[in-house]
Amino acid sequence: MSDYYSHMNLPKPVVPALPQLELLKGQTALVTGANSGIGRAVALALGKAGANVVVNYISRSEDAESVAAEVRDSGRRAMTFRADVSDEEQVEAMFAAAIGEFGTLDILVSNAGIEKNAPFHEMTAAQWDAVMNVNLRGAFLCARQAVREFLRRGVRRDVSVAAGKIIFISSVHEVIPWAGHVNYAASKGGLMLLMKSLAQEVAEKRIRVNAIAPGAIRTPINTAAWETPEAYADLMKLVPYKRIGEVDEIGRAAAWLASDFTDYIVGSTIYMDGGMTLYPGFETGG
Ligand code: NAP
Repeated sequence: MSDYYSHMNLPKPVVPALPQLELLKGQTALVTGANSGIGRAVALALGKAGANVVVNYISRSEDAESVAAEVRDSGRRAMTFRADVSDEEQVEAMFAAAIGEFGTLDILVSNAGIEKNAPFHEMTAAQWDAVMNVNLRGAFLCARQAVREFLRRGVRRDVSVAAGKIIFISSVHEVIPWAGHVNYAASKGGLMLLMKSLAQEVAEKRIRVNAIAPGAIRTPINTAAWETPEAYADLMKLVPYKRIGEVDEIGRAAAWLASDFTDYIVGSTIYMDGGMTLYPGFETGG
């Protein structure tokens, strides 16, 4: 992290170290797309907070293995599983393997997501389908498997007062329109109402469904937006707090949102965006 900030001549944000916690002790979490970026940080934070972790990935198994090894270093159990979240059979196999290994599942963080950007008139059906399949169908398939397990098992009061927790990693583009990225914004807008409708449907079963909507977080998905000083200056026009976000910040929020500290948060999106959803064009009047 420090290399980037010194290279860019920017103040390094302070993300306090996460101590070893017992918040999620005895629980198992499955995180999709957990070998990179936000998913990786979420998997590590859930491990630090006490959970055993299933690290889903689709490519680069070595990165998934290193996340699992780091989770084990914090004294928890971890396994990796390769599955394309948009493939029904692979998702079912992944949940079966996770439940086989750990006995049950308590937390799903549906994080895997992609962008395939194009001007609307040039966007191919393949680009549209790819984004919808990973970002929306994948979220549906994984959440469905998690809900099936939560309903089968019910509340385990020794570990949590809820029967299960689902956190979707959405985006500020669930509410902010995004020219040139119509497929992505449509997928995240859809994810918002998937989250809220599902939350409403399963709340009485004590299953909590929520989302975290990141703004600009420094990951491989958006390198072009932060890798040069010019790009960074442009990006900052959209961020009232005037800095990019770090993946560890999302990880900490996910651990909190999965814990019983937030048992009364149901059907909410937590925006972590440095104020990006505050109509930044109005900072200087309007
Ligand atoms: P990232 O580093 O590119 O992570 C995306 C992860 O999803 C990667 O591990 C990727 O694996 C995985 N993935 C892609 N297709 C998959 C599939 N079919 N099955 C399973 N895994 C798959 O980017 P990120 O920024 O951390 O993105 C994570 C989530 O945050 C996404 O949902 C994204 O929309 C959301 N988000 C990010 C930002 C931001 O500023 N970074 C802002 C708003 C929302 P491979 O690398 O192997 O393809």
